[in-house]
Amino acid sequence: MSEIARIVSCIDGYDPDALHVEKARAAIRACLAPVAASERVPLRAALGRVLAQDIVPSIDVPGHDNSAMDGYAIRSADLQADAETVLEEIGSALAGRAFEGRVGAGQCVRVMTGAVLPEGADTVVIQEIVRAQGKRVAVPAGQKAKQNVRYAGEDLKAGVPVLKAGALLRPAELGVISSLGIGEVSVKRRLRVAFFSTGDELTSVGTPLGKGQVYDSNRYTLHGMLARLGVELLDLGVVRDDPAALEQALRKAAASADAIVTSGGVSVGEADFVRRLMGQLGEVLFWKIAMRPGRPMAFGRIGDAFLFGLPGNPVAVMVTFYQFVREALLVLAGGSGDLSPVSLRVQSAAALRKVPGRTEYQRGILFREACEWKVRTTGQQGSGVLRSMAEANCFIVLEHERGAIAAGDLVSVQPFDGLV
Ligand code: AMP
Ligand code: MG
Repeated sequence: MSEIARIVSCIDGYDPDALHVEKARAAIRACLAPVAASERVPLRAALGRVLAQDIVPSIDVPGHDNSAMDGYAIRSADLQADAETVLEEIGSALAGRAFEGRVGAGQCVRVMTGAVLPEGADTVVIQEIVRAQGKRVAVPAGQKAKQNVRYAGEDLKAGVPVLKAGALLRPAELGVISSLGIGEVSVKRRLRVAFFSTGDELTSVGTPLGKGQVYDSNRYTLHGMLARLGVELLDLGVVRDDPAALEQALRKAAASADAIVTSGGVSVGEADFVRRLMGQLGEVLFWKIAMRPGRPMAFGRIGDAFLFGLPGNPVAVMVTFYQFVREALLVLAGGSGDLSPVSLRVQSAAALRKVPGRTEYQRGILFREACEWKVRTTGQQGSGVLRSMAEANCFIVLEHERGAIAAGDLVSVQPFDGLV
C-alpha cells in the first residue's frame, strides 16, 4: 500500500465515501510534513511569518524595578499602620533619569511612571493622595507594601523562552521581540502554492462571455484566500477538461510548489479521467465528505507537492478551503498549536433546517441585538450563490449529528475576521 493510503487507513472510522469532516481533517494532518528551510529576515518583514527559532531573552524586561505610577517612592517599613506618615522628599526620578542616592528612613523620592525605583524604596504612593508642602510629604494611612511597583523581569525573564519555533508572528510578537533588542529573526521560508481552475465552461476575466460560459471566479477567491495566508502564489490559469492539459498543469505545479490547489473536476460525473490521471502522476484520494456545501474533494500528493482538489462550485471552494486547506497550509508552513478556525457559540435568531449525518456550513451574519451577539443566515444557501459569502461575516457550523435548530438555540459560528 502506498504512503498516503497507509496513513489514512489507520484513522479510526475512515470511510472515503462518507467521510466525517473531522476524519478528513485528521487524515490530511496525519500526512503533512512541514517545510524545513528557514531564512533570516529583518523584524518588520517577519510579520505574518512563522518563527523558525525559539526566542530566549538575554535580558530582563523591564531591566529594573520601576514605578508603575506618578507619585512618591517610599520605604514600606516607614508606614504607620493606622496614621498618616510624614516623609521628607530628597530628590526625584524620571523615566530614563534615575535618582542616584538612597532612600533612608523617613525619606521619599518623587517618581514618574517608568522611573527606576530608587535604592532603599520598595513602594510607590500615587501623587493624587499625598499632601505635599515643600519637601514635606504626608502619606495617608492604608497603603500596601510594594504597591505600584513593576518588577524587573515581570514581562520577560532572561533565560526563560518567550516564543517557540512555530509561533505565528503578529504585531504583539514583533513588539515582544523588539523589546529584547532583537532586530532580525529566523522564519520558515514562504510556502509556494500553485493553483488553477478546471472547466470547459470557464472564461477568464477580460474575454467576452460565450454562450453557456461563466467567468472563472474561483481563481479570484483562491487568489484572495491564499494571498491572505502570505504564501507565494503561482497562478496557472484556467485548465480545460482535457487530460493532456491537466497533466501539463499538474506536472508544472508539482515541480515548483509545495502545495497545489485546484477547483472543479472532482465531482462524480467528472472525476473519472481526473482520478486516473492523478493516480498516474502521484497518489491522490477522492473523497465524498459528509458536508454541505463541498462534498467531493481530492487530497494527495503529486511529486513533492500536496494536492487539494476542491469542488468547482464557488461557495464549496471557499468552504473547503477554510475548513481543510487553510489549516493544512499553516501546518505545512511550520505553524504549531491549534490552527483550526476560532469557533464560538451564539444564539440562532431563527429556526434552521438541518438533517443529521452531515456537517453544514451556512453563511451567517453575526449581529448585535440588545448587547447580545446573535446570528442569522444570509438567506439563499445554494453552493453557487457566491453572494452569500460576500454578505456573510461568519460560517454557521451545524455539526454532523445535529438535527433541526429552533430559534434561540445555540449554534457554532466561525467569524471570518479576527482582530489581530
Ligand atoms: P465542477 O465541480 O467542475 O463539476 O463544477 C461545479 C459547478 O461549479 C459548475 O456549475 C461549474 O460551472 C462551477 N464552476 C466550476 N469552476 C468554476 C470557476 N472557476 N468559477 C466559477 N464557477 C465554476
Ligand atoms: Mg468542471
